[in-house]
Amino acid sequence: MSDRLQSPEGIIATVNAIAAPSAAEPLVRSTIERRGVGPRDVLIEIRYAGICHSDIHAARGEWGPVPYPLTVGHEIVGVVAEAGAEVTRHAVGDRVGVGCMVNSCRECANCRAGMEQYCLKGNTQTYGSVDRDGTVTQGGYSTHVVVDQDFVLRVPEAIPYEKAAPLLCAGITTYSPLAHWNAGPGKKVAVVGMGGLGHLAVKIAAAMGAEVTVLSQTLGKKGDGLAFGATDYHATSDPATFEALKHTFDLIINTVSAPIDMAAYLGLLRLDGTLVSVGAPPQPLAVPVFSLFANRLSFAGSGIGSIAETQQMLDFCAEHGIAPEIELIDAGSVNEAWERVLTSDVRYRFVIDIDTLR
Ligand SMILES: [Zn+2]
Ligand SMILES: [Zn+2]
Repeated sequence: MSDRLQSPEGIIATVNAIAAPSAAEPLVRSTIERRGVGPRDVLIEIRYAGICHSDIHAARGEWGPVPYPLTVGHEIVGVVAEAGAEVTRHAVGDRVGVGCMVNSCRECANCRAGMEQYCLKGNTQTYGSVDRDGTVTQGGYSTHVVVDQDFVLRVPEAIPYEKAAPLLCAGITTYSPLAHWNAGPGKKVAVVGMGGLGHLAVKIAAAMGAEVTVLSQTLGKKGDGLAFGATDYHATSDPATFEALKHTFDLIINTVSAPIDMAAYLGLLRLDGTLVSVGAPPQPLAVPVFSLFANRLSFAGSGIGSIAETQQMLDFCAEHGIAPEIELIDAGSVNEAWERVLTSDVRYRFVIDIDTLR
């Protein structure tokens, strides 16, 4: 396997990867095939890949059937190693990133409106999706990836390389709803959960100028939360929290993927407040509709962000010195890291050093 891939269009290259052989087995070192570099494609030599909770759900078939063997990973940063003849947005040597999607139909109303994450025909996910050419996409726990230039982001120099990866999923997933619902000066924002998503939501909302409160199960990460920019921190295991904070917030970002007591959380919103869920429990949530009437509340969802907005988010993070807190691991430690993600034993995101996979 050559370190630098020279792959004329149509020629498939084999690269090192970490793959799930089935839903039940641990990840193994393996190889996967990458398509040749087409005229609008960019070949990326991957340097770092973040570990997202979704990777585990997907690899274990918990969100529906997936093709095996499957290589996951949708928080990818690396350097452009080759650019197709028609590529204008990126050049060899550029620091770039890839997030949760690598293609979309480009024709539907949402794609034409620049919101390809909401492609009406379904965006092509970075792994486990059937791409427009009929091949199955494979993710970032690998040494190289070939991606259409339109779905490749520029990673500003001001963001430390290894810390940039989690911004591509966790960062945009929290930035997009904060921006859409106008987190900023004069707004009170609560972030539910202080994990990979939550800790970035706190940093970003604070940088936008909002007054940020963390609602976490315990006060165990209070010191961190305040250091990340929150001005207040409460334990949701304490019922007094829900009394003390009644009708306080304009916006609640829920990053927890377990069911929550919707009536209790909606009670924390003030007039015209919105609770946005970006964490997804597998079961439907029970929303007592009467609790929406009281303050003309909204219960909403949000899915990642567009490519343009993801670029905006990266530039915003560079400008404000925002980066996730990470634990860098080698390729041999991913199974162990996944177990620790499942018990929330990470502050706050694992990132795989892909050089250890070459
Ligand atoms: Zn993710
Ligand atoms: Zn579309």
